Amino acid sequence: MKEEIKEEGLSESKYKAKRIFMFLAQKIAGLSGLQIAAVLASNGSMSAEKIAELTGIQVAVVRDILERLHANGVLFTTRIPSTEYHSVIFKYYFDEVTVLRAFRDKLKSMIIHLTKVSEYRGTFYYCPTCNRYYSEEVAAENDYQCPVCGSELEERPNLAIEFRRLRKFVDELKAKFVQTMYI
Ligand SMILES: [Zn+2]
Repeated sequence: MKEEIKEEGLSESKYKAKRIFMFLAQKIAGLSGLQIAAVLASNGSMSAEKIAELTGIQVAVVRDILERLHANGVLFTTRIPSTEYHSVIFKYYFDEVTVLRAFRDKLKSMIIHLTKVSEYRGTFYYCPTCNRYYSEEVAAENDYQCPVCGSELEERPNLAIEFRRLRKFVDELKAKFVQTMYI
């Protein structure tokens, strides 16, 4: 009975790590990222060539996405010398600990960023096209035009309700961050 619970607990955390892995891969590299992550997560480790074969995505694209995922710290890689081709083969690994560490790091930097934003007391400028907010400094630097799409920025002097909501959201994120210690 005890063993059963333990096993169930283990697979639960692996399942969570898989879902987080696929979520992050999609955020980083879109639908192809998601497909690649799904294949890698169910196999544990693979080469770019094998992933390309299984997903039907071009191997160069697969390599590029795997590199991006690696740069974001969500998977790890090893070089395996290949005597057959006189070259090295890269193998990529899905690993629970690596994924959860990357997730925690991202959550932490998001909390730090949002805390900074929620403490900002200047005027915000809003782009109705991109649905983005900019600080007064950034808006002035760009002549009060959106640096992304060029639309005229709108002044948003009264954001008290949004700030209250944001602070509440940051508090929720902090609570979630503490929870990730026990995943
Ligand atoms: Zn814009």
